[in-house]
Amino acid sequence: MGERVSDRVSAIAESATLAVDAKAKALKAAGRPVIGFGAGEPDFPTPEAIVEAAVAACRNPKYHRYTPVPGLPELRAAVAAKTKRDTGYEVDAAQVLITNGGKQAVYNAFAALCDPGDEVLLIAPYWTTYPEAIKLAGGVPVEVVTDETTGYLASVDQLEAARTERTKVLLFVSPSNPTGAVYPREQVEAIGAWAREHGLWVVTDEIYEHLVYGDAEMVSIAHSADPDRVVVLNGVAKTYAMTGWRVGWLIGPTDIVKAASNLQSHSTSNVNNVAQVAALEAVSGDLSAVAQMRAVYDRRRRRIVSMLSDIPGVVCPEPLGAFYAYPSVKGLLNVSLRGRTAESSAELAAIILEEAEVAVVPGEAFGTPGYLRMSYALGDDDLAEGVSRIAKLVAEG
Ligand code: PMP
Repeated sequence: MGERVSDRVSAIAESATLAVDAKAKALKAAGRPVIGFGAGEPDFPTPEAIVEAAVAACRNPKYHRYTPVPGLPELRAAVAAKTKRDTGYEVDAAQVLITNGGKQAVYNAFAALCDPGDEVLLIAPYWTTYPEAIKLAGGVPVEVVTDETTGYLASVDQLEAARTERTKVLLFVSPSNPTGAVYPREQVEAIGAWAREHGLWVVTDEIYEHLVYGDAEMVSIAHSADPDRVVVLNGVAKTYAMTGWRVGWLIGPTDIVKAASNLQSHSTSNVNNVAQVAALEAVSGDLSAVAQMRAVYDRRRRRIVSMLSDIPGVVCPEPLGAFYAYPSVKGLLNVSLRGRTAESSAELAAIILEEAEVAVVPGEAFGTPGYLRMSYALGDDDLAEGVSRIAKLVAEG
């Protein structure tokens, strides 16, 4: 008999991004005027047609019952069609597993791929869930650290330096959470070809595929990696402002999809049918709603980068995708902020929350201390007010 909580589960850290968001929401509920840059969540409501489809599904007794574990057949087919439309990658419906959000797709992918000791190349800064999902599966995350000097892009040389004979998977995320980095086409193709040459699996998280700005282009690495060793992760959360509906998917070779589906058959079964019907409406419809949201995010993106760049001690590369800015705040450490000093970005985030009533996520959550992640998926006025408060705190010294 060991400890009360198993080693495997007690080793999991709480999601820092959700924790910051919960703290900000609690302060807000207590009447404090907190401005939250914490959650990676669109501030728009889900488009009306999607909501209407869900309402109709509620009234259809067919959806009151269990449905196939890997997803409604019509949704699996629509996801295959949408993938061809959006990234040109051709798959059939049998290669699609519908999951409870992109998060379960991440979890299932690593559970299906990793044996104990298998190494997964994880480019840092990374989304906070990845290392936990890899470790739960028995895999070993091997960090490849990038910084603002390369716009947070990893090179083939860096990846090659981290590769060992235990390396099984490269996790590739473009556009990236938390940095907003988008890999240029040549670099995507070079990394895909390198992975293929070395027999590596590529797990590509494409959940921000439609949120790219300016001249940046979303290029799926699925085209250049080994087609028999590619797993694509995606979902409706970010593109259609559907974070609360919990629908995502995993696309891969049929043996992996079958294995992940077997796992899901013993954990969660089919995803909520009403949410699946909503997702069907979303992926079958056009992309006009996301085009409108993208224009708004782009305006906020330019605003936040310019305001942050005006703060002495802050260096903010221009994010080209998703809805996050990831400034370096090393210049704000060990200086006076209303008489207090932060020795780490975690302490800085705490001081900013307490003194300026602004919630941000420290870089520690993404494997790179010395940075902050700020989501700009919040209202324009709040965005301007929130960054001004930080600027004021820094200016006061
Ligand atoms: N991948 C990335 C990179 C994300 O940022 C998120 C959400 N924060 C997800 C996957 C999962 O999204 P969800 O589970 O809400 O579909």
